[in-house]
Amino acid sequence: MLTHNIGYPRIGAERELKKIIESYWAGDIDKANLLETTKELRVKHWATQKEADIDLVPSNDFSLYDQVLDTTLLVGAIPERYRHLLHEENEKNQSYPIDTYFAMARGLQDDDHDIAAMEMTKWFNTNYHYIVPEFSVDQQFQFRSTKIFDEFKEAKSAGIKTKPTLIGPVSFLLLGKEKDGSEDFHRLDLLDELLPVYQEILNRLEQQGAEWIQIEEPFLALELEEHAQVAFQTAYQQLAEDRSELKLMLTTYFEGLGENTELACGLPVDGLHIDLVEAPDQLDSVLNKLDDSSKLSLGLIDGRNIWKVDFEKTADIVRKAAEAIGHDRLMIAPSSSLLHCPVDLNQETDVKALPTDIKRWMAFSNQKLEELSLLKKLVGDDLSKTERIKVKAQQAALADKRESALVHNSDVQERLENLDDDILHRNNPYSIRKKAQQEYVDLPDLFPSTTIGSFPQTKEVRQWRADYRKGKLSKEEYEQNIKEAIEELIRKQEEIGLDLLVHGEFERNDMVEYFGEQFAGFAFTRHGWVQSYGTRGVKPPIIYGDVHRPDPITVRWSSYAQSQTNKPVKGMLTGPVTILQWSFPRDDQPRSETVKQIALAIRDEVADLEEAGIQAIQIDEPAFREGLPLRRGNREHYLDWAVDAFRMASTVVEDKTQIHTHMCYSEFNDIIEHIARLDADVISMETSRSQMELLDAFVEFNYPNEIGPGVYDIHSPRVPSTAEMTELLEKAVDVLPPDQLWVNPDCGLKTRGWEETLPSLKNMVAAARHMRDNI
Ligand code: GLN
Ligand code: ZN
Repeated sequence: MLTHNIGYPRIGAERELKKIIESYWAGDIDKANLLETTKELRVKHWATQKEADIDLVPSNDFSLYDQVLDTTLLVGAIPERYRHLLHEENEKNQSYPIDTYFAMARGLQDDDHDIAAMEMTKWFNTNYHYIVPEFSVDQQFQFRSTKIFDEFKEAKSAGIKTKPTLIGPVSFLLLGKEKDGSEDFHRLDLLDELLPVYQEILNRLEQQGAEWIQIEEPFLALELEEHAQVAFQTAYQQLAEDRSELKLMLTTYFEGLGENTELACGLPVDGLHIDLVEAPDQLDSVLNKLDDSSKLSLGLIDGRNIWKVDFEKTADIVRKAAEAIGHDRLMIAPSSSLLHCPVDLNQETDVKALPTDIKRWMAFSNQKLEELSLLKKLVGDDLSKTERIKVKAQQAALADKRESALVHNSDVQERLENLDDDILHRNNPYSIRKKAQQEYVDLPDLFPSTTIGSFPQTKEVRQWRADYRKGKLSKEEYEQNIKEAIEELIRKQEEIGLDLLVHGEFERNDMVEYFGEQFAGFAFTRHGWVQSYGTRGVKPPIIYGDVHRPDPITVRWSSYAQSQTNKPVKGMLTGPVTILQWSFPRDDQPRSETVKQIALAIRDEVADLEEAGIQAIQIDEPAFREGLPLRRGNREHYLDWAVDAFRMASTVVEDKTQIHTHMCYSEFNDIIEHIARLDADVISMETSRSQMELLDAFVEFNYPNEIGPGVYDIHSPRVPSTAEMTELLEKAVDVLPPDQLWVNPDCGLKTRGWEETLPSLKNMVAAARHMRDNI
């Protein structure tokens, strides 16, 4: 039985990759230096995995930006607008045109060029984002980058024969988008064009001496239309022809094969990898249907969460599989690439952020690889004495976790057990609340203007927080600074002429971490970075135990802001679904339970804000849509608990208090009835870049409550004119009654500078007034 890894985090334990690439972009290092330093990083990562005793170590899992973009370049699917760059670069004889590659990822704007980047979107249901391939009807493919071969060779010279990984042809096409107008063109039509290039890649790897190649087809674990099923058959039949030695490991993750089990098991490949963490139930049917000569790779170590594995439970699964098909047909692996997991837990030494008692329940990538090797030895009855002690200690730690008072809080549980249905309902329907709010919240009757919450977090503001953390600023000094920033912001908003003000969120580093830090049940890391896209990372908090809110969190800041003005100030909270979605969740209870605890904690804060006289409270849920399960069959259940969580958090208030919510980067078409079930009095969202198209779902549904369709794209420093924002509002008025509309930007202004923020908001307020006067 072999161990293998699906993918290793590429960012580096010290985020070396970010530093290298950003210095290349800044022109501080040259291409040769970039290639050399990233090679060092790869070699180090291979060595780490070898030292952890992994039998098959992957290559080509590394990327300078994104593995999908690597594949796009590999098969030469370079959109027209970048092709001249390629020529410029090719003249310099580059087998791996890095500058063209970066231009595709980020766009290129200089004296000679102005080319837009390719689109970016979420990688399945993770927080990783990939660059979306673009396909045209007359798409040609042609082998373009030697990266996959170079890395194989590189590892070989370092003494490691790797298993190259490659996104499979069907998933590659499905990940992309048709960029051609023609109605009946589907990207899967390009399969015949694409397969010869894959064929060539496999042949070359075979010649180089590769034994296994991991070919990733995550779409096999999702619902497939018929032509996609056919595409899988065509593709793998063809790839099986005239290949002798090279073995294909068909790799799936994030979901179970479900109704595609027969299809996947019938494809002519040499092995199949399945995710048994996300979908443990698929094991039996796969064991039943798997071809006699195929290997089965069991994905048993969670590639996406940070908890230690339960050796006993997991070994039982391996034993069961071995009984069915024999040890030598089995491999064991993490469930998915470890790209979604931080690198090394041993770096976490700050016990204030991550107490030792909690750390001992956790494993990052390096620890997970060690677990994998131990698991193999445990099943093979091959543990040394020290290893046996390690396994025992781990089982003991996990047994402690099940009982620990750090995890279980009887007050929280009692409160949850005694909830009644009232907790999900406001006192009255929206139509009645609206009247109460018109009296209580002093706003113009039509087109009230507001913002989404944050205002520019200047260097200065971030410096205060850093200094406060380091003890260079006392608590009093820090809080005084924040108060002054709030007061100044209130004056600015009055001057701009906004109607519903905010306090600016200057006290927050991040909208999830800030709340997590003040809730019980959360821990934090100092180095636990996970790649989000390109050189950007996130450092998710860890939910380890029952969550509650010991003390009010935002009330003092909101009250202070309110005390500075006669205009209403909106309280600002992060919603339960988003807090859950952007953290590492507990693995000992369903997410639907954890979210309720967070919802109650937010509910307490909402009640206190109302009590303090805050008349409008916004509960942000930007991650509401991204939590949607990949398989349509599981969506209803998610939407039920997610909607309930929002209601649980928000319904504590009286009719007169106005509940807002905010969602960005969302499509609403297929979830609009659930958005309506949230029953927020006002929802604001991102719509400016789609020219209000995202509003259609609300119109068609006859969405009854108030809506703030964003009229100003905050992602760019550009200042939108009054005329263009008026035009957007007119589009909205064409389809919705004016008394349903708010005027606001697409999202928070945290990443913007004041230079563009002030004029943009002034223009926005002018647009609102124009609408009010001309209706
Ligand atoms: N209130 C938050 C802000 O303005 C919302 C951020 C978000 O939607 N991602 O920054
Ligand atoms: Zn937003």
